[in-house]
Amino acid sequence: MRVSKLFTKTLRDAPADEVAKNAQLLIRAGYVYKEMAGAYAYLPLGIRVVEKIKQIVREEMDRVDSNELIMTSLQRKEIWDKTGRWSDDTVDIWFKTRLNDDTEVALAWSHEEPIVEMMKQYVHSYKDLPSSVYQFQTKMRNEKRAKSGIMRGREFIMKDMYSFHATAEDLAAYYDNVIEAYKRVYDRLGIGDETYVTFASGGAFTKFSHEFQTICDAGEDIIYLHREKNIAVNEEVIDEAVKELGINRDEFEKVKTAETGNIFNFGTQKTDEMGLYYTAEDGSQQSLYIGSYGIGITRAMGVIAEKMSDEKGLVWPKNIAPYLVYLVSIGKKGAAEAEKVYAQLTEAGVEVLFDDRDERPGTKFADAELMGIPLRLTVSDRGIEAGEYELTDRATGETQAVPVSEVVQRISA
Ligand code: ATP
Ligand code: MG
Repeated sequence: MRVSKLFTKTLRDAPADEVAKNAQLLIRAGYVYKEMAGAYAYLPLGIRVVEKIKQIVREEMDRVDSNELIMTSLQRKEIWDKTGRWSDDTVDIWFKTRLNDDTEVALAWSHEEPIVEMMKQYVHSYKDLPSSVYQFQTKMRNEKRAKSGIMRGREFIMKDMYSFHATAEDLAAYYDNVIEAYKRVYDRLGIGDETYVTFASGGAFTKFSHEFQTICDAGEDIIYLHREKNIAVNEEVIDEAVKELGINRDEFEKVKTAETGNIFNFGTQKTDEMGLYYTAEDGSQQSLYIGSYGIGITRAMGVIAEKMSDEKGLVWPKNIAPYLVYLVSIGKKGAAEAEKVYAQLTEAGVEVLFDDRDERPGTKFADAELMGIPLRLTVSDRGIEAGEYELTDRATGETQAVPVSEVVQRISA
């Protein structure tokens, strides 16, 4: 991609009403556009990051044999009535509306009930189990406070997965596999070291559910962390957990975190409420066990933007950066040479953002830093004479002279 063709421009300042660091940086660098509090458009650079995060999650969900699908955003009242969750007293974040014929419908804040309803058409016998489905969906939630930038949206992208099982044991085994899949996701996103599988409240069937909490000052949660034993507990269940685990409360360290994912064991509660059963081998009707597994795709992006940034701007990990290389030319010869390098790198499959604008090098460098592109390759008249280009690492700030003949190989390695 050529910077001259990007319709977005970097901004010196973020909008005055934007208080969250992640959104300030993402707006300034041209990743997102703020429509209103809690609603952001994803621009060309932003959508590339979103897609990369989704692809990592997709690969790991596929590895646990889940099937990708996409449910609808419009939902029927009667489905949610079955579990009593249409009521605003039970769920206070609904966006409700009506069809032309006055039928009450709503915009999806979750797909738990609709997916159970849908599965009635597909799951009948023990032979149909286990089964797992997932999607990437824009969830709509009328959140009270939306001051954390893309970390808390009124619309946001979630990966939600649901698994269906004949027995509690089968669900438990799958649940453990998903914990491992999630760990791989967070490792690949570059936040594995700072993301903790955390005991939380909310399991219908088990005493605890699990949250994936990533250490983040801008997060809205507090966890208690036992680094030595690698145990993390959400603040809301700490008393119960202390009893259960037999660990002294003051051995835990209190840290601020953002919940980037969570998993629940619903047991048979939801399928019983909604009437989803299967026929067992002996012909009897049995209750189905369900697990539910979420990852906040855009929240994870916000958390990474918060954590991996400095005074110059964003610092994306290579796996999810919109482009790997920011190519800059200095001087007349440099400009012609950069065209060739751009073609070569693109040919080699390297994702390059080529700053072909007629701007001062300082302006281009500042944009490369603000956008947080992992590598900057500078092709200058002086460098061409010396037979070398400069390769600068965004994270460390180190610059190396790389012989012209080795550039493509060095970058694509
Ligand atoms: P929270 O306690 O932060 O409101 P939640 O318990 O409502 O989260 P779920 O409904 O289980 O979360 O959603 C699954 C995941 O989606 C969460 O772990 C989080 O990463 C993400 N998520 C939830 N609400 C939002 C939001 N308003 N904006 C962005 N991401 C969100
Ligand atoms: Mg919530």
